[in-house]
Amino acid sequence: MKTVNARAVFGATENFKATTIERRDIGPKDVLIEIKFAGICHSDIHTARGEWREIEYPLVPGHEIAGVVAEVGSEVTKHKVGDRVGVGCMVNSCRTCENCLAGEEQYCLNGNTGTYAGINKYGDGARTQGGYSTHIVVDEDFVLKIPEGIELDVAAPLLCAGITTYSPLRHWGAGAGKKVAVIGLGGLGHMAVKLGHAMGAEVTVLSRSLDKKDDGLKLGADHYYATEDPETFKELAKRFDLIINTVSAKVDVDSFLSLLRVNGALVNVGAPPEPLSVGVFNLLGNRRSFAGSAIGGIRETQEMLGFCAEHGLGAEIEVISADQIDDAYERVVNSDVRYRFVIDVATIA
Ligand code: NAP
Ligand code: ZN
Ligand code: ZN
Repeated sequence: MKTVNARAVFGATENFKATTIERRDIGPKDVLIEIKFAGICHSDIHTARGEWREIEYPLVPGHEIAGVVAEVGSEVTKHKVGDRVGVGCMVNSCRTCENCLAGEEQYCLNGNTGTYAGINKYGDGARTQGGYSTHIVVDEDFVLKIPEGIELDVAAPLLCAGITTYSPLRHWGAGAGKKVAVIGLGGLGHMAVKLGHAMGAEVTVLSRSLDKKDDGLKLGADHYYATEDPETFKELAKRFDLIINTVSAKVDVDSFLSLLRVNGALVNVGAPPEPLSVGVFNLLGNRRSFAGSAIGGIRETQEMLGFCAEHGLGAEIEVISADQIDDAYERVVNSDVRYRFVIDVATIA
C-alpha cells in the first residue's frame, strides 16, 4: 500500500479537508499514475453532496484525471513510465458481458467500477477514491493515452466532459448538414459546442440568457439563443436534428422536444436528481426520440482524444489550487464557471 495525499469531504454538507488515502500495491496489470491535474465535474458535486444517493464518507471525488505514469506492473504492455495518461469515470468492468466485449464498458451488464464512490469488485474489493489526490493505481486497460499536442491541464476535462458529449454526437450522427443544439453552456456544454462544430454540424447554443453569447460563438457555435425568451421557442420550432441537454437541473423537456424536426432526438446527458417528465404527444408527432447517454467506452474515449488532438481541441479551463475546491463548487452550482475548473494537483499538500 502507498499512502498518498488527497482532498476529501467527510459529509454531504462539509467542506473539503486535506487527508491521506491508501492506494493498492501495483499488481501485474496496474499502472501507478502521478496525477497532475483533476477536473471538477458537476457529477463530483452531485455525489459529494449526496444528491443522487447516500454516499459513504470520506469521499475523494475526481474522474477527469491527467498525469504521468510513475510505475508499471510486470505484465503491463500498453503504458510505460513517463507516458502522459488520463483516467475517466471508470476504472474497471467485467470485460466479459456483451457490452464490455463491444467496447461499451460504461454499460457493463455486471456494473462498471466508478473511479470514485465505487467498489473495486473485479479486484481487491476496496472502495474507490478519485483524482483529487496525488496518485492513483489503475488497471492498464482503463488508462487512456493523452496525445502529444494536448496539454495535460486542458486534457483533464476531456476524460468526462469530452467523452460524454462526443459519444452521443457520434452515435446520433452529428456532422455536415446536421443541425445540433446544446442546452446549457457549462463544462459539458462548451465541449459539446467545440466537438459538434469540429464534426461539421451547425451548432446552436440554448443558454438561459445571452450573457455568454460572445464566448459561445468563439467556441464554435453558429447561433446562440436565450431560453428565458419565449420567442426562442417560437423561432426555433422543429429546427434541430439533435439536441444535447447538459443541464444539471430539471428542465421542461416538452418545450425542448418541440424544437426537434421529424425523427429528431433530444439526448439527455445532464443528470439532475429529480425525474424529468415527457408529454407523449410531443414524441408521437414528428416521430421524436427522448434518449440518454452515459460517458463513453474506453475505445471511444481514446478515439475522442485523437479527434481533439487532430482538431486542436481542449477544454477552456480555470486552474485552481486545492484550497479553492469549495469555492469552485459554489461557482459551478451558480453557473459561474468558464468553463471547467481544474485542480493543480501539485497544490494537494
Ligand atoms: P455545469 O458546468 O454546471 O453546466 C451545467 C449548465 O446547465 C450550466 O452552465 C447552465 O448553463 C445550465 N444550468 C444550470 N442550472 C440550471 C437550471 N437550474 N436551469 C437551467 N439551466 C441550468 O455542469 P457539467 O459538469 O457540465 O454537468 C452537467 C450535468 O451533466 C450534471 O448533471 C452532471 O452530473 C451530468 N453529467 C452526466 C454525465 C453522463 O455520463 N451522462 C457525465 C458527466 C456529467 P447556462 O448558464 O448556459 O444556462
Ligand atoms: Zn463527470
Ligand atoms: Zn461487462
